[in-house]
Amino acid sequence: MRIRAAVLEEFGQPLSVQEVDLAEPKAGEALVRLVACGVCHTDLYTASGADPSGYAPCVLGHEGAGVVEQVGEGVTSLALGDHVVTLFAPECGECVHCRSPRTNRCVAIRDQQGLGFLPDGTTRLSRGGDELRHFMGTSTFAEYTVMPEIALAKVSPDASLEGCAPFACGLATGIGAALYTARVERGSTCAVFGCGLVGLGAVIGSRLAGAERIIAVDLSEGRLAEARRHGATDTQVAADDTVDWIREETGGFGADYTFEATGSVEVMRQAVEAAREAWGLATMIGVAGKGETLDIVPRFLITGRRVTGSSFGGVKGRTQVPELVDRWLAGEIDVESLLSHRLTLDDVNKGFELMEAQDGIRSVIVF
Ligand SMILES: [Zn+2]
Ligand SMILES: [Zn+2]
Repeated sequence: MRIRAAVLEEFGQPLSVQEVDLAEPKAGEALVRLVACGVCHTDLYTASGADPSGYAPCVLGHEGAGVVEQVGEGVTSLALGDHVVTLFAPECGECVHCRSPRTNRCVAIRDQQGLGFLPDGTTRLSRGGDELRHFMGTSTFAEYTVMPEIALAKVSPDASLEGCAPFACGLATGIGAALYTARVERGSTCAVFGCGLVGLGAVIGSRLAGAERIIAVDLSEGRLAEARRHGATDTQVAADDTVDWIREETGGFGADYTFEATGSVEVMRQAVEAAREAWGLATMIGVAGKGETLDIVPRFLITGRRVTGSSFGGVKGRTQVPELVDRWLAGEIDVESLLSHRLTLDDVNKGFELMEAQDGIRSVIVF
């Protein structure tokens, strides 16, 4: 079928919205009609050419939500009309990592996905007979996509698909970091560095976990106001003395859990140093630049601080994304306030501009 899609032709250039060809789903795959797709920093990161594993041409987009319109042979867990969230981190349920409760790092299709192919090593996308690669196994800046069954999470049909889109990446990443990576304990103190969608997700996840105090740090007063709306109890505009301030606010010790959601290695260092002596856990969520490293004074570790991190917040997508969507439907998560701009597919480059200007929390393309 012919579909419209936003193609990354060349790194550093605007995306080109054009008609491309999409083949039918093969065995174990499904055709999804996209209804909404968030514009995430990772799309911009790849489009800019900064991502060392990036490739072009490809169809970008990975924060999608839509409706199953066709399934390939052998697909048993999805049916026509199902509402789904796309997963760049699949959950096969059978590999060594899926069988462990400790991680979401499914290895089933990792190699082919990393190269821009579906699990059988081919593409469903093409143009003029030439193959066009899939981005992150998702390619959701498009009217339709074909994805593996194991990379689609079936969610409640009661949830608006616009609101489901951020659960495909940014929002679930932040919430999951608190719930599934750090496993925040009830009554604890958390500190979140950076209050974009991922950081706000960490604020929300800390609140859902029953944290007593949630300290939010950001350069923008507006984002700190958003953090308060979602559950932050204390906020501070980021400054050189932020670590000292957090220690003072926590009886001289630091926070039980800290989260880094900016991608700056300098802020990562602050998140480690602001974690509590003896048992503080610093969780890295932000994506650092190519070649950057995190400096930690070993004394911080010897005195009991721990450092961890996760991709997609440690969320096991097919199992836990539907659970998070249900918590939104139950009124525990305010999703609507996170959706700042609604764009058409033709406006996809405007979504990047809004992100670079830090205008709003999340732009969502509505098809
Ligand atoms: Zn993303
Ligand atoms: Zn797996």
